[in-house]
Amino acid sequence: MTEAPQAGQLTFIAPRRAKPQRHLADLTMAERRAAVVELGEKAFRADQLSRHYFGKLTESADQMTDLPAASRSVLAQLMPDLLSPVREITCDNGTTRKTLWKLFDGSLVESVLMRYPDRATICVSSQAGCGMNCPFCATGQAGLTRNMSTAEIVGQVVAAARTLARGEVPGGPGRINNIVFMGMGEPMANYKAVIGAVHRMVDPSPDGLGISARGVTVSTVGLVPAIAKLANEGLPVTLAVSLHAPDDELRDTLVPINTRWQVAEVLDAAWAYAAKTKRRVSIEYALIKDINDQEWRADLLGRLLKNKLVHVNLIPLNPTPGSKWTASRPEDERAFVHRLEHHGVPVTVRDTRGREIDGACGQLAAANPTA
Ligand code: SAH
Repeated sequence: MTEAPQAGQLTFIAPRRAKPQRHLADLTMAERRAAVVELGEKAFRADQLSRHYFGKLTESADQMTDLPAASRSVLAQLMPDLLSPVREITCDNGTTRKTLWKLFDGSLVESVLMRYPDRATICVSSQAGCGMNCPFCATGQAGLTRNMSTAEIVGQVVAAARTLARGEVPGGPGRINNIVFMGMGEPMANYKAVIGAVHRMVDPSPDGLGISARGVTVSTVGLVPAIAKLANEGLPVTLAVSLHAPDDELRDTLVPINTRWQVAEVLDAAWAYAAKTKRRVSIEYALIKDINDQEWRADLLGRLLKNKLVHVNLIPLNPTPGSKWTASRPEDERAFVHRLEHHGVPVTVRDTRGREIDGACGQLAAANPTA
């Protein structure tokens, strides 16, 4: 409990930080109607506005020419520009695109769009920075700046959807199939905004983008209470758990929050999630040379995951600048895969798209845009 400060005592009052402006994507449909009415417009304008933003991907209110000009300028207040592109870098012949965004307060975040022959995936950030401090992750090194708002998170998806719809990515006009919360930040540490964002992603038009919840993956270090809560949201998204080690001794160092919620507890939460949602849980495991890639660790992992509704994603470590760690030797990676297969555990090795633009897993650090 907090006590009233006494005279002469130093008080630590958190500085009041301005929040990002309210955007229609922060709001449920009912809240949008109320907001529109508050602005002096008819409630049905909220539906029109939503159809434009989520359905037609209209960029600004003045392009909504089916609405009266007077309404457009009022409704524009619910569509503030929250994300300004600072820099865009592409590789893989333009099919991988990393965008650096500046938020209203100068915070920098990144998203990565990856187009494959049969689908397109957007990797979004949920926080500016991250407070989880995993030593192998570029974002973790910089610490947490702040949580992103629901509309800031959704805005990354809408921007990517526009890029695809306009045919700006090789392969012709396309759409987003998958969304992964694997950019900057720990989504389960920004729970409320992330759940709001997932709703905007999966709710059918005009409430949201109408993307299949099966195509949405929330990746977490393993915040157990939040995983339990997510299981009860009725949103069948894929849960990915960043395990990286099967034993607490090593995981305490690779994923420091493990000292709070240990491997057994995290996996129990994952199995409860799988039971409740009937969704296969992804286990993320960055293979780090001579650190977590020993065959005995693969065996231990295999025993923990055996006969569960699970899939292991092995990620060759993307070394961050100045890191003493590097990716496993190919023969160790192969042996690791074989040990897991021996236990009957489904496993794949993730491709490392976007490496040369620092857009690959764990490399998003919002480096100085002028660098
Ligand atoms: N905070 C969330 C999302 C992080 S990014 C989480 O931890 O799950 C998504 C994945 O990339 C996580 O599994 C993360 O551990 C992994 N990752 C981070 N840095 C990496 C690196 N340098 N190389 C490979 N994978 C990395």
